[in-house]
Amino acid sequence: MLVVQKYGGTSVGDLERIESVAKRVSKAKEAGNDIVVVVSAMSGETNKLVGYAEHFSQTPSAREMDILLSSGERVTSALLAIALTEMGHPAMAMTGRQAGIYTDEVHTKARINSIDNRAMKEALDKGKIVILAGFQGITESGSVTTLGRGGSDLSAVAVAGALDADLCEIYTDVDGIYTTDPRIEPKAKKIEKISYDEMLEFASLGAKVLQNRSVELAKKLNVNLVTRSSFNDNEGTLITKEENIMEQPIVSGIAVDKNQARITLRGVSDKPGIAAEIFKTLAQNNINVDMIIQNVGEDSSTNLGFTVPENELERAKEIMLQLNASENLEFDRDIAKVSIVGVGMKSHSGVASRAFETLAAENINIEMISTSEIKISMVVAEKYSELAVRALHSAYEMDQ
Ligand code: ASP
Ligand code: MG
Repeated sequence: MLVVQKYGGTSVGDLERIESVAKRVSKAKEAGNDIVVVVSAMSGETNKLVGYAEHFSQTPSAREMDILLSSGERVTSALLAIALTEMGHPAMAMTGRQAGIYTDEVHTKARINSIDNRAMKEALDKGKIVILAGFQGITESGSVTTLGRGGSDLSAVAVAGALDADLCEIYTDVDGIYTTDPRIEPKAKKIEKISYDEMLEFASLGAKVLQNRSVELAKKLNVNLVTRSSFNDNEGTLITKEENIMEQPIVSGIAVDKNQARITLRGVSDKPGIAAEIFKTLAQNNINVDMIIQNVGEDSSTNLGFTVPENELERAKEIMLQLNASENLEFDRDIAKVSIVGVGMKSHSGVASRAFETLAAENINIEMISTSEIKISMVVAEKYSELAVRALHSAYEMDQ
Protein backbone atom coordinates (compact mmCIF):
# COMPACT_ATOMS: atom_id res chain seq x y z
CA MET A 1 0.00 0.00 0.00
CA LEU A 2 0.99 3.59 -0.52
CA VAL A 3 0.08 5.59 2.55
CA VAL A 4 0.29 9.33 3.11
CA GLN A 5 0.53 10.25 6.79
CA LYS A 6 0.12 13.83 7.91
CA TYR A 7 1.20 14.97 11.38
CA GLY A 8 -0.11 18.24 12.80
CA GLY A 9 1.72 20.72 15.01
CA THR A 10 0.97 19.11 18.39
CA SER A 11 2.00 15.67 17.06
CA VAL A 12 5.46 17.08 16.25
CA GLY A 13 5.43 19.66 19.06
CA ASP A 14 8.84 18.79 20.52
CA LEU A 15 11.80 16.50 19.84
CA GLU A 16 10.35 13.66 21.89
CA ARG A 17 7.15 13.76 19.89
CA ILE A 18 9.06 13.83 16.62
CA GLU A 19 10.83 10.73 17.89
CA SER A 20 7.55 8.95 18.55
CA VAL A 21 6.25 9.99 15.13
CA ALA A 22 9.42 8.48 13.66
CA LYS A 23 8.63 5.22 15.47
CA ARG A 24 5.08 5.20 14.14
CA VAL A 25 6.29 5.85 10.60
CA SER A 26 8.89 3.06 10.98
CA LYS A 27 6.17 0.61 11.96
CA ALA A 28 4.10 1.46 8.89
CA LYS A 29 7.18 1.09 6.72
CA GLU A 30 8.12 -2.24 8.31
CA ALA A 31 4.60 -3.49 7.59
CA GLY A 32 5.57 -3.24 3.93
CA ASN A 33 4.02 0.08 2.90
CA ASP A 34 5.42 2.91 0.85
CA ILE A 35 5.16 6.04 2.96
CA VAL A 36 4.96 9.74 2.29
CA VAL A 37 4.83 11.82 5.45
CA VAL A 38 3.56 15.39 5.41
CA VAL A 39 4.44 17.52 8.43
CA SER A 40 3.27 20.76 9.99
CA ALA A 41 5.53 23.15 11.82
CA MET A 42 6.09 22.34 15.52
CA SER A 43 3.11 23.74 17.42
CA GLY A 44 3.35 27.47 18.04
CA GLU A 45 6.15 27.86 15.52
CA THR A 46 4.15 29.53 12.73
CA ASN A 47 2.65 32.02 15.20
CA LYS A 48 6.13 32.75 16.51
CA LEU A 49 7.34 33.53 13.01
CA VAL A 50 4.34 35.79 12.38
CA GLY A 51 5.25 37.59 15.62
CA TYR A 52 8.83 38.07 14.45
CA ALA A 53 7.63 39.73 11.25
CA GLU A 54 5.21 41.96 13.17
CA HIS A 55 8.12 43.21 15.24
CA PHE A 56 9.26 45.04 12.10
CA SER A 57 6.05 45.73 10.23
CA GLN A 58 2.28 45.53 10.53
CA THR A 59 2.11 45.08 6.76
CA PRO A 60 4.95 42.77 5.82
CA SER A 61 5.09 41.78 2.16
CA ALA A 62 3.23 38.55 1.48
CA ARG A 63 6.09 37.23 -0.63
CA GLU A 64 8.54 37.57 2.27
CA MET A 65 5.98 36.14 4.72
CA ASP A 66 5.85 32.99 2.61
CA ILE A 67 9.61 32.54 2.70
CA LEU A 68 9.47 33.05 6.46
CA LEU A 69 6.46 30.85 7.27
CA SER A 70 7.44 27.98 4.99
CA SER A 71 10.58 27.53 7.09
CA GLY A 72 8.62 26.12 10.07
CA GLU A 73 7.57 23.03 8.13
CA ARG A 74 11.04 22.60 6.66
CA VAL A 75 12.53 22.32 10.14
CA THR A 76 10.17 19.49 11.08
CA SER A 77 10.63 17.63 7.80
CA ALA A 78 14.41 17.66 8.06
CA LEU A 79 14.39 16.58 11.73
CA LEU A 80 11.99 13.73 11.08
CA ALA A 81 14.05 12.54 8.07
CA ILE A 82 17.22 12.60 10.18
CA ALA A 83 15.51 10.67 13.00
CA LEU A 84 14.10 8.02 10.64
CA THR A 85 17.37 7.50 8.81
CA GLU A 86 19.07 7.02 12.17
CA MET A 87 16.51 4.30 12.98
CA GLY A 88 17.56 2.44 9.84
CA HIS A 89 14.83 3.75 7.52
CA PRO A 90 16.39 5.99 4.89
CA ALA A 91 14.22 9.06 4.52
CA MET A 92 14.38 12.13 2.34
CA ALA A 93 13.02 15.53 3.35
CA MET A 94 11.55 17.66 0.58
CA THR A 95 10.40 21.25 0.41
CA GLY A 96 7.32 22.11 -1.63
CA ARG A 97 9.55 23.09 -4.52
CA GLN A 98 11.51 19.84 -4.43
CA ALA A 99 8.33 17.79 -4.32
CA GLY A 100 6.87 19.61 -7.35
CA ILE A 101 3.91 21.30 -5.64
CA TYR A 102 2.88 24.08 -8.07
CA THR A 103 0.48 26.79 -6.92
CA ASP A 104 -1.02 30.02 -8.17
CA GLU A 105 0.62 33.35 -7.33
CA VAL A 106 -1.55 34.30 -4.37
CA HIS A 107 1.01 34.62 -1.59
CA THR A 108 -0.07 33.41 1.90
CA LYS A 109 -3.27 31.83 0.52
CA ALA A 110 -2.12 30.01 -2.59
CA ARG A 111 -4.07 27.22 -4.25
CA ILE A 112 -2.37 24.12 -5.60
CA ASN A 113 -2.62 23.99 -9.39
CA SER A 114 -0.70 20.82 -10.13
CA ILE A 115 1.79 18.38 -8.68
CA ASP A 116 4.75 17.02 -10.60
CA ASN A 117 5.12 13.78 -8.67
CA ARG A 118 8.33 12.55 -10.31
CA ALA A 119 10.78 13.44 -7.54
CA MET A 120 8.59 11.82 -4.88
CA LYS A 121 8.09 8.72 -7.02
CA GLU A 122 11.79 8.41 -7.68
CA ALA A 123 12.56 8.53 -3.96
CA LEU A 124 9.82 6.00 -3.19
CA ASP A 125 11.13 3.68 -5.91
CA LYS A 126 14.50 3.72 -4.18
CA GLY A 127 12.76 2.53 -1.02
CA LYS A 128 12.99 5.87 0.73
CA ILE A 129 10.41 7.43 2.98
CA VAL A 130 9.48 10.87 1.63
CA ILE A 131 9.05 13.58 4.26
CA LEU A 132 7.30 16.56 2.75
CA ALA A 133 7.22 19.98 4.36
CA GLY A 134 3.50 20.75 4.32
CA PHE A 135 1.68 24.05 3.78
CA GLN A 136 3.88 25.19 0.90
CA GLY A 137 4.46 25.18 -2.81
CA ILE A 138 6.09 27.10 -5.59
CA THR A 139 4.74 29.27 -8.42
CA GLU A 140 5.60 28.62 -12.06
CA SER A 141 8.00 31.54 -11.83
CA GLY A 142 9.75 30.08 -8.80
CA SER A 143 8.39 32.03 -5.80
CA VAL A 144 7.74 30.18 -2.56
CA THR A 145 4.06 30.22 -1.54
CA THR A 146 2.06 28.99 1.44
CA LEU A 147 -1.47 27.61 1.36
CA GLY A 148 -3.18 29.54 4.17
CA ARG A 149 -3.23 28.71 7.88
CA GLY A 150 -3.80 25.04 8.57
CA GLY A 151 -2.78 24.29 4.99
CA SER A 152 -0.72 21.17 5.68
CA ASP A 153 -3.88 19.09 5.54
CA LEU A 154 -4.37 20.31 2.00
CA SER A 155 -0.79 19.38 1.10
CA ALA A 156 -1.42 15.86 2.36
CA VAL A 157 -4.69 15.37 0.51
CA ALA A 158 -3.30 16.84 -2.72
CA VAL A 159 -0.21 14.63 -2.58
CA ALA A 160 -2.34 11.55 -1.81
CA GLY A 161 -4.35 12.38 -4.92
CA ALA A 162 -1.31 13.00 -7.10
CA LEU A 163 0.33 9.73 -6.05
CA ASP A 164 -2.92 7.77 -6.12
CA ALA A 165 -2.30 6.73 -2.52
CA ASP A 166 -4.47 4.04 -0.96
CA LEU A 167 -4.96 6.04 2.22
CA CYS A 168 -4.32 9.50 3.61
CA GLU A 169 -4.09 9.49 7.39
CA ILE A 170 -4.39 12.81 9.21
CA TYR A 171 -2.88 12.55 12.69
CA THR A 172 -3.99 15.02 15.37
CA ASP A 173 -4.58 14.91 19.10
CA VAL A 174 -8.13 13.56 18.82
CA ASP A 175 -9.28 10.03 18.06
CA GLY A 176 -11.59 10.78 15.16
CA ILE A 177 -15.12 11.99 14.58
CA TYR A 178 -17.73 11.30 17.25
CA THR A 179 -21.51 10.96 16.97
CA THR A 180 -21.62 14.09 19.13
CA ASP A 181 -19.43 16.03 21.53
CA PRO A 182 -18.51 13.51 24.28
CA ARG A 183 -18.35 16.35 26.81
CA ILE A 184 -22.08 16.86 26.28
CA GLU A 185 -23.09 13.22 25.83
CA PRO A 186 -20.65 10.74 27.38
CA LYS A 187 -22.36 7.95 25.42
CA ALA A 188 -21.10 9.48 22.15
CA LYS A 189 -19.42 6.89 19.95
CA LYS A 190 -16.56 7.20 17.56
CA ILE A 191 -17.82 6.97 13.98
CA GLU A 192 -16.10 4.24 11.97
CA LYS A 193 -16.93 5.52 8.49
CA ILE A 194 -18.56 8.67 7.27
CA SER A 195 -19.20 10.11 3.82
CA TYR A 196 -17.49 13.23 2.46
CA ASP A 197 -20.77 15.14 2.40
CA GLU A 198 -21.58 14.37 6.01
CA MET A 199 -18.07 15.39 7.02
CA LEU A 200 -18.48 18.66 5.11
CA GLU A 201 -21.66 19.38 7.05
CA PHE A 202 -19.90 18.63 10.36
CA ALA A 203 -16.93 20.79 9.41
CA SER A 204 -19.16 23.72 8.49
CA LEU A 205 -21.05 23.18 11.76
CA GLY A 206 -17.83 23.73 13.64
CA ALA A 207 -16.14 20.32 14.01
CA LYS A 208 -12.52 21.40 14.06
CA VAL A 209 -10.75 18.15 13.24
CA LEU A 210 -10.54 18.81 9.51
CA GLN A 211 -10.90 21.95 7.48
CA ASN A 212 -13.61 22.12 4.85
CA ARG A 213 -11.14 22.78 2.06
CA SER A 214 -9.28 19.52 2.69
CA VAL A 215 -12.47 17.48 2.81
CA GLU A 216 -13.68 19.10 -0.42
CA LEU A 217 -10.38 18.30 -2.08
CA ALA A 218 -10.47 14.71 -0.80
CA LYS A 219 -13.95 14.34 -2.26
CA LYS A 220 -12.87 15.78 -5.59
CA LEU A 221 -9.74 13.60 -5.82
CA ASN A 222 -11.48 10.59 -4.30
CA VAL A 223 -8.91 10.24 -1.51
CA ASN A 224 -9.76 7.93 1.38
CA LEU A 225 -9.13 10.07 4.42
CA VAL A 226 -8.63 8.82 7.97
CA THR A 227 -8.46 11.07 11.02
CA ARG A 228 -6.81 9.52 14.05
CA SER A 229 -4.69 10.32 17.05
CA SER A 230 -0.90 10.23 17.09
CA PHE A 231 -1.02 9.68 20.86
CA ASN A 232 -2.57 6.20 20.85
CA ASP A 233 -3.20 3.24 18.55
CA ASN A 234 -6.99 3.58 18.33
CA GLU A 235 -8.52 3.26 14.90
CA GLY A 236 -9.70 6.59 13.61
CA THR A 237 -12.63 7.61 11.41
CA LEU A 238 -12.59 6.87 7.68
CA ILE A 239 -14.01 9.59 5.44
CA THR A 240 -14.89 8.11 2.09
CA LYS A 241 -17.40 7.84 -0.76
CA GLU A 242 -20.96 7.17 0.23
CA GLU A 243 -20.95 3.96 -1.84
CA ASN A 244 -18.11 2.57 0.30
CA ILE A 245 -20.29 2.61 3.39
CA MET A 246 -22.47 -0.47 3.49
CA GLU A 247 -24.60 0.15 6.52
CA GLN A 248 -25.72 3.73 6.64
CA PRO A 249 -27.32 4.83 9.86
CA ILE A 250 -30.16 7.30 9.27
CA VAL A 251 -28.46 9.90 11.39
CA SER A 252 -24.68 9.81 11.66
CA GLY A 253 -24.15 12.53 14.19
CA ILE A 254 -25.40 15.58 16.02
CA ALA A 255 -23.65 18.91 16.09
CA VAL A 256 -24.31 21.86 18.34
CA ASP A 257 -23.20 25.41 17.73
CA LYS A 258 -23.64 27.78 20.67
CA ASN A 259 -21.87 30.60 18.88
CA GLN A 260 -25.08 31.74 17.24
CA ALA A 261 -27.17 34.85 17.63
CA ARG A 262 -30.39 35.96 16.01
CA ILE A 263 -31.50 39.24 14.54
CA THR A 264 -35.23 39.81 14.06
CA LEU A 265 -36.57 42.58 11.97
CA ARG A 266 -40.25 43.42 12.43
CA GLY A 267 -42.55 45.22 10.07
CA VAL A 268 -40.31 45.33 7.03
CA SER A 269 -42.21 46.41 3.95
CA ASP A 270 -43.19 43.46 1.82
CA LYS A 271 -41.80 44.53 -1.54
CA PRO A 272 -39.00 43.45 -3.85
CA GLY A 273 -35.42 44.40 -3.01
CA ILE A 274 -35.58 44.60 0.80
CA ALA A 275 -33.90 41.24 1.52
CA ALA A 276 -31.43 41.91 -1.29
CA GLU A 277 -30.34 45.15 0.31
CA ILE A 278 -29.96 43.74 3.84
CA PHE A 279 -28.06 40.62 2.89
CA LYS A 280 -25.91 42.34 0.32
CA THR A 281 -24.75 44.86 2.91
CA LEU A 282 -24.04 42.12 5.46
CA ALA A 283 -22.11 40.10 2.88
CA GLN A 284 -20.07 43.14 1.86
CA ASN A 285 -19.05 43.39 5.51
CA ASN A 286 -18.08 39.72 5.62
CA ILE A 287 -20.83 38.73 8.02
CA ASN A 288 -21.79 35.13 7.71
CA VAL A 289 -25.56 34.80 7.64
CA ASP A 290 -26.80 31.28 8.25
CA MET A 291 -30.51 30.56 8.71
CA ILE A 292 -33.04 32.98 7.30
CA ILE A 293 -36.76 32.97 7.96
CA GLN A 294 -39.31 35.30 6.49
CA ASN A 295 -42.94 35.12 7.47
CA VAL A 296 -45.86 35.27 5.13
CA GLY A 297 -46.62 38.97 4.86
CA GLU A 298 -49.71 40.51 6.44
CA ASP A 299 -50.98 43.81 5.14
CA SER A 300 -47.95 45.27 3.44
CA SER A 301 -45.30 44.21 5.95
CA THR A 302 -43.54 41.09 7.09
CA ASN A 303 -41.03 39.84 9.71
CA LEU A 304 -37.56 38.65 8.87
CA GLY A 305 -35.28 36.66 11.18
CA PHE A 306 -31.78 35.36 10.60
CA THR A 307 -28.80 34.03 12.50
CA VAL A 308 -25.18 35.17 12.51
CA PRO A 309 -22.17 33.95 14.50
CA GLU A 310 -22.37 35.48 17.98
CA ASN A 311 -18.92 37.05 17.65
CA GLU A 312 -20.11 38.93 14.55
CA LEU A 313 -23.30 40.20 16.19
CA GLU A 314 -21.92 43.58 17.25
CA ARG A 315 -20.83 44.43 13.73
CA ALA A 316 -24.08 43.10 12.27
CA LYS A 317 -25.98 45.22 14.79
CA GLU A 318 -24.28 48.42 13.64
CA ILE A 319 -25.04 47.67 10.03
CA MET A 320 -28.66 46.83 10.75
CA LEU A 321 -29.10 50.01 12.79
CA GLN A 322 -27.82 52.04 9.87
CA LEU A 323 -30.31 50.38 7.54
CA ASN A 324 -33.33 50.33 9.87
CA ALA A 325 -35.11 52.03 12.71
CA SER A 326 -34.02 50.57 16.04
CA GLU A 327 -37.58 49.96 17.29
CA ASN A 328 -38.01 47.33 14.57
CA LEU A 329 -34.98 45.33 15.60
CA GLU A 330 -34.41 42.58 18.17
CA PHE A 331 -31.17 40.82 19.02
CA ASP A 332 -30.86 37.51 20.83
CA ARG A 333 -27.57 35.93 21.87
CA ASP A 334 -29.01 33.13 23.94
CA ILE A 335 -29.71 30.74 21.14
CA ALA A 336 -27.91 27.69 19.81
CA LYS A 337 -28.18 25.63 16.68
CA VAL A 338 -28.59 21.88 17.03
CA SER A 339 -28.19 19.88 13.82
CA ILE A 340 -28.64 16.26 12.92
CA VAL A 341 -26.66 15.04 9.94
CA GLY A 342 -26.95 11.83 7.95
CA VAL A 343 -27.05 10.67 4.34
CA GLY A 344 -29.65 8.11 5.44
CA MET A 345 -32.19 10.95 5.54
CA LYS A 346 -32.28 10.91 1.76
CA SER A 347 -33.98 7.53 1.74
CA HIS A 348 -35.98 7.56 4.97
CA SER A 349 -39.10 9.49 5.79
CA GLY A 350 -40.06 10.68 9.25
CA VAL A 351 -36.57 11.75 10.24
CA ALA A 352 -37.56 15.38 10.78
CA SER A 353 -40.79 14.58 12.58
CA ARG A 354 -38.90 12.33 15.00
CA ALA A 355 -36.54 15.23 15.79
CA PHE A 356 -39.43 17.60 16.43
CA GLU A 357 -41.30 15.07 18.59
CA THR A 358 -38.17 14.39 20.60
CA LEU A 359 -37.69 18.06 21.43
CA ALA A 360 -41.40 18.48 22.13
CA ALA A 361 -41.27 15.61 24.61
CA GLU A 362 -38.52 17.50 26.46
CA ASN A 363 -40.58 20.68 26.31
CA ILE A 364 -37.97 22.42 24.20
CA ASN A 365 -39.35 25.03 21.84
CA ILE A 366 -37.95 25.02 18.31
CA GLU A 367 -37.51 28.62 17.23
CA MET A 368 -36.20 28.17 13.71
CA ILE A 369 -35.73 25.23 11.38
CA SER A 370 -33.69 24.78 8.24
CA THR A 371 -32.93 21.67 6.25
CA SER A 372 -30.72 20.37 3.48
CA GLU A 373 -30.84 16.97 1.86
CA ILE A 374 -28.70 15.46 4.62
CA LYS A 375 -29.14 17.89 7.53
CA ILE A 376 -31.83 19.28 9.80
CA SER A 377 -30.87 22.30 11.89
CA MET A 378 -32.97 23.66 14.72
CA VAL A 379 -32.51 26.83 16.71
CA VAL A 380 -33.37 26.43 20.40
CA ALA A 381 -32.71 28.42 23.56
CA GLU A 382 -29.02 27.99 24.37
CA LYS A 383 -29.72 26.71 27.89
CA TYR A 384 -31.62 23.72 26.46
CA SER A 385 -29.18 22.90 23.70
CA GLU A 386 -27.25 20.20 25.57
CA LEU A 387 -30.44 18.54 26.71
CA ALA A 388 -31.61 18.62 23.08
CA VAL A 389 -28.40 16.93 21.94
CA ARG A 390 -28.73 14.14 24.50
CA ALA A 391 -32.40 13.57 23.72
CA LEU A 392 -31.75 13.38 19.97
CA HIS A 393 -28.70 11.16 20.47
CA SER A 394 -30.87 8.64 22.20
CA ALA A 395 -33.90 9.09 19.89
CA TYR A 396 -31.83 8.06 16.86
CA GLU A 397 -30.35 5.16 18.81
CA MET A 398 -26.81 6.42 18.70
CA ASP A 399 -26.29 5.45 22.34
CA GLN A 400 -26.03 1.75 21.48
N1 ASP B 1 1.95 25.60 10.20
C1 ASP B 1 0.84 26.13 9.47
C2 ASP B 1 -0.15 26.76 10.43
O1 ASP B 1 0.08 26.79 11.62
C3 ASP B 1 0.17 25.11 8.61
C4 ASP B 1 -0.36 23.89 9.31
O2 ASP B 1 0.00 23.58 10.44
O3 ASP B 1 -1.17 23.17 8.70
O4 ASP B 1 -1.13 27.30 10.02
MG1 MG C 1 -25.44 31.85 21.68
